[in-house]
Amino acid sequence: MKSFYNLTLDELTKELTSLSYSKYASSQIYDWVYRKKIDDFSLMSNVKKELRDYMSNTYSLNLPKIEKLEVSKDTTRKYLLKLEDDSMIEAVLMHHEYGTSLCVTSEVGCNMGCAFCASGLLKKTRNLETHEMVEEVLTVENESKEKVSHIVIMGTGEPLDNLDNVLKFIEIVNAPKGLEIGIRHITMSTCGIVPKIYELADMNLQINLAISLHAPTDDLRDRLMPINKAYKLKELIESVDYYFKKTGRRITFEYLLLDGVNDSLLYADKLADLIRGLNCCVNLIPYNQVSEFKYKTAKDDNVNAFYNQLKRRGINVTKRRKMGDDIDAACGQLRSKHDNNFNN
Ligand code: SAH
Repeated sequence: MKSFYNLTLDELTKELTSLSYSKYASSQIYDWVYRKKIDDFSLMSNVKKELRDYMSNTYSLNLPKIEKLEVSKDTTRKYLLKLEDDSMIEAVLMHHEYGTSLCVTSEVGCNMGCAFCASGLLKKTRNLETHEMVEEVLTVENESKEKVSHIVIMGTGEPLDNLDNVLKFIEIVNAPKGLEIGIRHITMSTCGIVPKIYELADMNLQINLAISLHAPTDDLRDRLMPINKAYKLKELIESVDYYFKKTGRRITFEYLLLDGVNDSLLYADKLADLIRGLNCCVNLIPYNQVSEFKYKTAKDDNVNAFYNQLKRRGINVTKRRKMGDDIDAACGQLRSKHDNNFNN
């Protein structure tokens, strides 16, 4: 049976009107599933009996099993979910002053191979289907009894490497009568697949785009992020400039501070030079240490000096709060531990 969660509101409306049902039927069903959280078509009392039967026979409303849930002292909730084919994925719920954000996984494993990232320890086995990303949101909302107000596509995987499914996911969670998560509350984070940034820019969506930069020179970035061997910083910055000119959306550069690797004032200056004139901001990210790697979290004094140097150079810069580090909330850590335990 097909998953209901693959259907955009438009697709459902087209299907139902082609079967001669009113175009409101699709909104009613969306409302039952996404707002009232009813996972049984037969209970949708304002929907015609015949249509309820059709939906029950055609679509499933299954959700993944929560294999493990860890709750941090700072209230961050990290879920390990088991998909139909037994693949394991992670989703992380975080509480902020501005709302509740969910960090969504887009692929099973990741092939980008960043030197510091736990996700790459388990190679990509497949893309996530649209419905599986929607299910991450619903499963977490059901378990936590909370409404997700913001989505960051920053879990395991590279969203621009699974763009069609990710775009459909965005359309579904943004739909009126559904979860209705504001388009400007959705952030996609990429390691920088340049041709896909142009493609996305031409779609002119109002999502937030975040670029995982982490190094301001090709030399260093080549070592930290293999994608840089394919697309050099100059090309990346040009694509980001194009993205801003097309969409009017300010770009965020994520910059992970690794002790003694990329956290010196020299690198802060090189970063300021690189992004000079772009309408952007820099988010300094504390590194969640991964036991398999030698990288260490940058020291507070160095983080502050780096931050102040960027400020002095006129760059919009913020420091990300560390969340959930007592529960392995950095990308891929829970899943890779689970697999290790499983394999030993
Ligand atoms: N592939 C996408 C999205 C997933 S990674 C991307 O590269 O942006 C999401 C962010 O987490 C990236 O900025 C990534 O570099 C960062 N990250 C990876 N491992 C981390 C760790 N151990 N601690 C902190 N951030 C990490």
